[in-house]
Amino acid sequence: MKYISTRGKAPALSFGDVLLAGLANDGGLYVPETLPHYSKDEIASWASLSYQELAFKVMWPFVEGDIPAEEFKSMIEEAYAGFNHESIAPMVQVGNNEWVLELFRGPTLAFKDFALQLLGRLMDYVLAKRNEKLVIMGATSGDTGSAAIEGCRHSEHLSIFILHPYQRVSEVQRRQMTTVIDDNVFNVAVKGNFDDCQGMVKSSFADQSFLKGAKLGAVNSINWARIMAQIVYYFSSALAVGGPHRNVSFSVPTGNFGDIFAGYLAKKMGLPVDQLVVATNQNDILHRVIAENDMSRQALNVTLSPSMDIMVSSNFERLLFDAHGRNGAEIDDLMARFNKGDVSLNDQAWSFVKENFDSYKVDDKRTCEVITEVHDSAQYLLDPHTAIGLEAARQCWKDKSVPMITLATAHPVKFPEAVEKAGCDLPNLPEHMKDLFEREESYSVLDNELTQVQSFVAERI
Ligand SMILES: *Cc1c(COP(=O)(O)O)cnc(C)c1O
Repeated sequence: MKYISTRGKAPALSFGDVLLAGLANDGGLYVPETLPHYSKDEIASWASLSYQELAFKVMWPFVEGDIPAEEFKSMIEEAYAGFNHESIAPMVQVGNNEWVLELFRGPTLAFKDFALQLLGRLMDYVLAKRNEKLVIMGATSGDTGSAAIEGCRHSEHLSIFILHPYQRVSEVQRRQMTTVIDDNVFNVAVKGNFDDCQGMVKSSFADQSFLKGAKLGAVNSINWARIMAQIVYYFSSALAVGGPHRNVSFSVPTGNFGDIFAGYLAKKMGLPVDQLVVATNQNDILHRVIAENDMSRQALNVTLSPSMDIMVSSNFERLLFDAHGRNGAEIDDLMARFNKGDVSLNDQAWSFVKENFDSYKVDDKRTCEVITEVHDSAQYLLDPHTAIGLEAARQCWKDKSVPMITLATAHPVKFPEAVEKAGCDLPNLPEHMKDLFEREESYSVLDNELTQVQSFVAERI
């Protein structure tokens, strides 16, 4: 499989190259040149597979040629061995034809484990083959950092530096990162805010000379391998409710547009999907573009669903590429227009987006109400991101005979503020995290200065 850039100027690359490169050198994102397509009968024949076997079926065409089949199978086995439910992505019914897909059964209790558990292992394999090392640098306001650290901690060819804002992440989130004590894991608390951390990571990618020849790698969702791993659970959940011989719909709590883009790909690969619902919080740029063709940037709101507090969704460019007939030059132009302040798509591109997606926006007040309502009606506790997904599903659902699956992106224990505001009791930490508050921590506190952070990294690789 070859991968091409959404801006059309960077060279086409193999899976291994795309995995290590992250962003294309023309500023675009990599997408597969073609997609495999499956008939309903073929998809139906996967119904008896385990999650891991299905994962191999779905992902194999994307990695073939770069990763040997047996190696890939064992990576998948290892990636999902640390999940605490045997079906890996279990489904819970919360209403008539209404399902929640629990994607928080991994080590850090958010759906990001699905991709990041695999990503670390894939990178390690490719780096070992090439006899190279890679330095991962990332900024986090919570979920991504811990999932990336858990995914990379066992990799011999990776070292990982995660920057978080000092005293501005919750204790559970901090401890999920800082209690991972491994030689290649470095937690840095920067005396600044999340934007300062992210700014340092961006500057470091732009000028890597401080690394004296070492290379930086990305673990955020611009990395194609993350999207690839997320396609699998659209197939597994559809099969669980009678697909592919009946349509299913999905509602996805959305921030960077990575997770829902994987659903769109599943549909293009042949899965009969009726609706794909983009659920947003008050940071609603995606809802505005789908509903009104308005892509204007607005000030970032801090909400009870922090993992969706994103102003510009980087993966949306992958969809825009399809919406413009996969013409890279047009995307290059469009991005230049956006930077000059233009905020709308042409009619044809907007129609394409509207044909493929529905959308709905949910504010904090309604988020808490939904948590309370579902706790009462179904005795099920939603996290705030999932509550937004479920409300959007209910508002956008066109045909109630089609099963509606809401992706549950995090465990409620990670977001105590929303759970308490909804008047519900906070659940206990899952078994594997019971002693989180007793574990030894290790992190370094640095000033909000790029040179200090970069020397810290350079001295430790
Ligand atoms: C990352 C995250 C999201 C948003 O996912 P995207 O792929 O960025 O759209 C939603 N919910 C939770 C809990 C997350 O951690």
